[in-house]
Amino acid sequence: MTPGPTKVRENVRLARSLETTNSDLDPVFYDEYRELCKRIAELLHTKNEVYILCGEGILGLEAACASLTEKGDRVLVIDNGLYGNGFKDFVTLYGGTPVLYQSSYEETISVEDLAKFLEKDHSFKYATMVHNDTPSGMTNNVHAIGPLLHQYGILTVVDSVSGMIGEELKVDDACLDIVLGGSQKAFSAPTGLTIAAVSQAAMESMDKRKTPIASFYANLKNFRNYYEEQWFPYTMPISDIYGLRAAVDNVFEEPDIVGRHRRIAEGVRAAITSAGLSLYGKNGYSNNVTVFRVPEGITDTQILEIMKKKYQIMLAGSFGPFAGKVIRIGHMGENANDQDMIKTLKALQGTLQELGFICKVRMEEIFKDKVEPKR
Ligand SMILES: *Cc1c(COP(=O)(O)O)cnc(C)c1O
Repeated sequence: MTPGPTKVRENVRLARSLETTNSDLDPVFYDEYRELCKRIAELLHTKNEVYILCGEGILGLEAACASLTEKGDRVLVIDNGLYGNGFKDFVTLYGGTPVLYQSSYEETISVEDLAKFLEKDHSFKYATMVHNDTPSGMTNNVHAIGPLLHQYGILTVVDSVSGMIGEELKVDDACLDIVLGGSQKAFSAPTGLTIAAVSQAAMESMDKRKTPIASFYANLKNFRNYYEEQWFPYTMPISDIYGLRAAVDNVFEEPDIVGRHRRIAEGVRAAITSAGLSLYGKNGYSNNVTVFRVPEGITDTQILEIMKKKYQIMLAGSFGPFAGKVIRIGHMGENANDQDMIKTLKALQGTLQELGFICKVRMEEIFKDKVEPKR
């Protein structure tokens, strides 16, 4: 029950065992790839082109920065979390000048404050932000921030690796230019693929560069005409893509996947807070991961060890400034279900009790009351 990689359903695992063709030379594969990209675009509510890249989600973050950044470009790095902050390294690596817009790691970005900042300074080629900052369990309102940046003609790069599918994401309404996702989070496919939704404006910005993109593997332009030219920059990981296709079919079969994530997350938060534990952060609680503070007198390692050894349930600690201070319960994709959550909460209650922290309520009961429709 970690915040990714998530469980992979059997039909996805089986899809990876299907017979494969030559993904460079067989036109059938170009159709299959394009079809899957279009289906993902539909899930993201966008008319932009979607590409599937061979590489874990981090490749997407790097590819966006590599493809847009030229030497000396000013880039607004919106930083209210670890992944948010991390974008500055990619910007720097490709010769850009990151300008950090920093705000509390305990709160979502205030759109009003950002608007005030932008009134004074808005000469940025693009801005980076994180939809769902996984280490702190916080979701930023990209649907309000995107249009604000768009007003100033600032392109947007959004890390939604742990956001998309579980959190609402309407890429076109939010005016987002490059949106990145990963196969191993709420899609619940195996690790290894990046999903990148790229706007026309972002592509045009790449066209206008005076210097070439300083990467081949992370060059988004290389994908632009793959279908017309029947050419991929490298051999596509066809089995991984068949797996993702099955995972996307699973998403389409569910009428309200965001609703399921929201319901489970509300149940978990109610259970955690009623028990006398405290959630990390003041607002913007994620639908996909719940982060609570380790109670006084106990360590994160003790909790994680007992959970794993005695109950065979893996939770996660966190890193950076959060290391040792919080525990993360992932509920994204296939992991966001009542049964697993009830088991997890029971085990957590037993674990905490063993360590001397007595919960004020039975967490699984609170969870059930919250998520199950009243009869
Ligand atoms: C998971 C994740 C990524 C991808 O990074 P890995 O930790 O290597 O899987 C990028 N951004 C966010 C916010 C993530 O949660």
